Amino acid sequence: MTPPRFLLVLTFAAVALPVFSSAQEPARPRRIAITIDDGPATGVGSNQLEPFVKVADALREVFVVEKIPAIMFVNERQLAVDGQRDARVAVLHRWLEAGLELGNHTYSHPRIGEMDLPRYLDDIVKGEVVTRPLLEARHKKLVWFRYPYLATGTGDTAKAVEDFLAVRGYRIAPVTVDYADYNHAGIYSRHLRAGDQAKADEQFATMMQALDVSFDRCEKRSVEVLGYELPQVLLIHCNEMNALTLRRALQRMRDRGYTFVTLDEAMEDPAYKLPVRPGAMGGGGLFNAFAAAKRPPAPAQP
Ligand SMILES: [Zn+2]
Repeated sequence: MTPPRFLLVLTFAAVALPVFSSAQEPARPRRIAITIDDGPATGVGSNQLEPFVKVADALREVFVVEKIPAIMFVNERQLAVDGQRDARVAVLHRWLEAGLELGNHTYSHPRIGEMDLPRYLDDIVKGEVVTRPLLEARHKKLVWFRYPYLATGTGDTAKAVEDFLAVRGYRIAPVTVDYADYNHAGIYSRHLRAGDQAKADEQFATMMQALDVSFDRCEKRSVEVLGYELPQVLLIHCNEMNALTLRRALQRMRDRGYTFVTLDEAMEDPAYKLPVRPGAMGGGGLFNAFAAAKRPPAPAQP
């Protein structure tokens, strides 16, 4: 006697489903926070208003249309162009009106160590003059700081900057995945200006390969070091290439199983509370710092 058809279906489902889910879906939903640096617009000439507004507004539109809660890290030096200050600050107003977040990326994007420490700290303060009141007018706080070049200094310098940031109420924005979009953005724009869309598309395709390689690496490192995939924090930049192509890159992340969360949400993961050495949270190579923080202390010498 053959079993009723529905029983066969049930048996098949019971056997097949776990295999299907492990092969097709990650063990837990992948999450990522998008952070975009050198805002509002980099690589658009230092005093031309039109391309500045165009790139910044187009980036905002991407996140609005895609319903992605991005945070932009601002270099306020970009706002200080005589005759254009209001128009440049208005870009930040529109960004906040859209429900997006802002953070401090220093005023002039110095590399730590190439400027003496008091001046570096001044540059942090100068970087919040416009942004902090803009946020406070909306009953929000300026919380996040991102180090230019992810350069945090070492030893006493790293510790001094972290202490200074803590006193001013900042949290340090980490980076776990970075496909070096800046390596491609300038070339992409040059091809566009030369009227060569095909070459620009080729450059974008090369960057998408870099995206996959970088994501493969950070997903693997996270499992190696933590035993699971933490909510990743992506670093990209406010350039013309992203203004024109970011939706495709974001789709690639969705195809990898990612949903998009705020930086605050991502940072709730316990990994980001590991006691890493001074400078590690804001620098590159964060998974190595996590690994070091998780390593049991060496036994005392007899
Ligand atoms: Zn930067």
